[in-house]
Amino acid sequence: MLLEVFFILYLLQSQVLTSGSSSSSSETHESSQRDEQHSKGSSHQHHWGYHDQDGWLSSFEDCGGKSQSPININTGEVKYDPRLSLIKLEGYDLTDKSPLSLLNNGHTLQLSLPNSMRIVRGFDHIYVAAQLHFHWGTVEIPGSEHTIDNIHFPAEIHVVHYNSKYSNLSEAATKADGLAVLGGFIGIGLHENENYEKILSALTNISSEESYTEIPGFNVRHLLPNSLERFYRYKGSLTTPPCFQTVSWTLFNDTVRVSRRQLAALEDTLKTEHSKLLSKNFRAPQLLHGRKVLTSFHTVPSAGNARGVPLSETQDLNTKESSETQDALSKGDILAIVFGVLFAVTLLAFSVYTYQQRKKYTKFKRDSKQNVIYKPAVKEEA
Ligand SMILES: [Zn+2]
Repeated sequence: MLLEVFFILYLLQSQVLTSGSSSSSSETHESSQRDEQHSKGSSHQHHWGYHDQDGWLSSFEDCGGKSQSPININTGEVKYDPRLSLIKLEGYDLTDKSPLSLLNNGHTLQLSLPNSMRIVRGFDHIYVAAQLHFHWGTVEIPGSEHTIDNIHFPAEIHVVHYNSKYSNLSEAATKADGLAVLGGFIGIGLHENENYEKILSALTNISSEESYTEIPGFNVRHLLPNSLERFYRYKGSLTTPPCFQTVSWTLFNDTVRVSRRQLAALEDTLKTEHSKLLSKNFRAPQLLHGRKVLTSFHTVPSAGNARGVPLSETQDLNTKESSETQDALSKGDILAIVFGVLFAVTLLAFSVYTYQQRKKYTKFKRDSKQNVIYKPAVKEEA
């Protein structure tokens, strides 16, 4: 993540971004990485990859730390914290008058963001937006980085912000309260997502590694789920080398949806080094090491049947919704039993009543016949 960030900063500094759509050279990328490595005083494996995640810590020691990201969120072990304040975003509603740079950096698809975009509430400080990017898998393998009860979502969006008390992203990245990342799970819906299309329609222009293009600005808020009120919060790290443990993570519980075709465009268009397909760019979940995950909402621990079993891609992947569905089903079952018993009791009572009525009628008929028999006797008196 950070390498992606530095590259964007480098581009901004060298004002390459003003020149419109074109490709940047691989030397530019290399030298920016070298500068960054040098400034951090760490050693230098520039070509880290997702196929060798265990190898990251030999060059980036923070990657072996005890507050790493991503993590699995076990909904049975999270803690509701009423003191978490809701996220308020400002300046996200960009117009087409402010073009944005979209980059394939070989690790991800990244959109640079203006510093007018901010998180103005939710933390002790204001956090300034820098860039957003994505993590994804393949048609067969869902590629979110974070998992909920060990289930991956098809993809994940990260919007990276830095604390406004620092002058820029690279300075903030090494500070304990330096970064705030907003994470959203991307699921598959029935309809095209027109907001995501603003990015995805430009993918073919940047299919080769280290190329970028410009797209018109749009309301970036719409790339996140509708509700920002329900979220998970924990202290973690960058999910790519150098893995600095300086990120306050906010993961929204609600899912944003794109169509199957749109997800396929993300999975199948971009190329990484040696023209290999850029996919499965997600890091494996890291150990919690005693960290607590807080929530802004009451969770319903889900029953066993839906957990541990991957959901189909078209299924609703929202955990809260699925546990509510399970609750609704069990309530429905109880109602059915109650009504069944009531019906049986009513039927029994009706049968008993009918039987008694019939018995009375038979007796009445018998009595009537007796009356008839006796009538002549009465007549005899006359
Ligand atoms: Zn990321």
